[in-house]
Amino acid sequence: MNLADSSTLAANLITRGYKRVGDEADADLIILNTCSIREKAERRVYGRLGEIYKYKKRKPYLKIAVVGCMAQRLGETLKEKVPYVDFVLGTDRQFELPDVLRQFEGTSQVMTAFGHENLDNIAPIKETPYSGFITITRGCDNYCTYCIVPYVRGKEVCHSPDYIVDGVKRMVDEGAIEVTLLGQNVNSYKINGLDFPGLLERVAKETGLARIRFMTSHPKDLSKRLVDTMAAMPQLMGHIHLPLQSGSNRVLKMMGRIYTIEHYLRIIDYIRMKLPDTAITTDLIVGFPTETEEEFEQTLSAVRKIRYDSAFMFRYSARPGTVAARYTDDVSEQDKIRRLNKLIKIQQEISCEVNQREIGRVQLGLIEGFSRRSDKILRARTEGNKIVLFNSGQSKPGTVVPIKVHEADAFTLHGEMAGLN
Ligand code: SAH
Ligand code: SF4
Repeated sequence: MNLADSSTLAANLITRGYKRVGDEADADLIILNTCSIREKAERRVYGRLGEIYKYKKRKPYLKIAVVGCMAQRLGETLKEKVPYVDFVLGTDRQFELPDVLRQFEGTSQVMTAFGHENLDNIAPIKETPYSGFITITRGCDNYCTYCIVPYVRGKEVCHSPDYIVDGVKRMVDEGAIEVTLLGQNVNSYKINGLDFPGLLERVAKETGLARIRFMTSHPKDLSKRLVDTMAAMPQLMGHIHLPLQSGSNRVLKMMGRIYTIEHYLRIIDYIRMKLPDTAITTDLIVGFPTETEEEFEQTLSAVRKIRYDSAFMFRYSARPGTVAARYTDDVSEQDKIRRLNKLIKIQQEISCEVNQREIGRVQLGLIEGFSRRSDKILRARTEGNKIVLFNSGQSKPGTVVPIKVHEADAFTLHGEMAGLN
């Protein structure tokens, strides 16, 4: 979502005559779009600001703007801590940066009030010429006890279906083959009686888009109707990101996640029955306050049972102002690290095994560009959102081609162009 926001902000500035530069040393304006989700993310921003300061010392007219979640969370405090930052614009104010720059040239500004964002002015954005993002809901109302998002991104607000359909159409007209619909909990989308599966149907029927993705789904709201809709519409790509967080019901309850592991497993069964080839990925947290070794083992057994295609795995980080920050963070850092390493090792083995099953199969991949290592090897994204590298003299980025997989590790598939018969 931050990537989508950054691209939108860059596009807003470019339409007003700003130019992107390749090297930050050449910039007259440097924008850091920030994340507050874990303490580490915020520490990195301070590190980056320290690096950028050297440019400011050399050219005092350089403007530095910090936008997004950390700007929202800290406001004036950020300006006090790092006085050479010129603009601090929170999540609802960041898209005003071009106006703020014009209005307040030379005067520092901190703006974090909610409710200023004009949702329909936020342009959807293309990440590559062939794929893009569109934010369908902003903010979150779930207040999972560990999570800072509702505090820094505010209440959940849904974009109108017409804005979404028009935005996707525009991207298709400009060459997009694949668009990802974004939200913290896309399944809670509801506007004038239209729910998320209904929105997907509209996008599939009215935009001519070839490949539709969405992210993220909260297990409490993922409905059978969504799975049935996916099964009925070939444009919907076979990938569901469904964060589990923990395999222990006691921990899930303390996290405020609302569902139980049994409910979660029932959803997985239904997905696997209706969409057997769909990739399922997840997010997991280890070392939540009071998590015992046994409860951590329950997360491991859930992971072994479900066999995710891949997972984002984190150790718990206390976020100021959240409910969990008031719990005693009694799992030692050492235990958190040990648990995380164990989880990552097990999940990587599973990812590798799951990917072996792709060997011999033909995947339809959207070619996004070339491999990082060689401009003779193409990089495509499969329907299940996996990267496949393959050798082909003829194919061009921006096309969807059949690729036969002949090798796989935990992260990447390798293959070759398959015959069309
Ligand atoms: N809206 C999404 C998650 C967005 S945050 C959802 O509910 O699934 C992305 C991931 O960051 C979360 O799924 C969680 O695993 C992780 N995360 C959030 N807060 C965290 C914290 N305080 N410490 C560690 N990981 C956290
Ligand atoms: Fe955070 Fe929970 Fe909202 Fe996801 S659903 S953004 S984890 S509060």
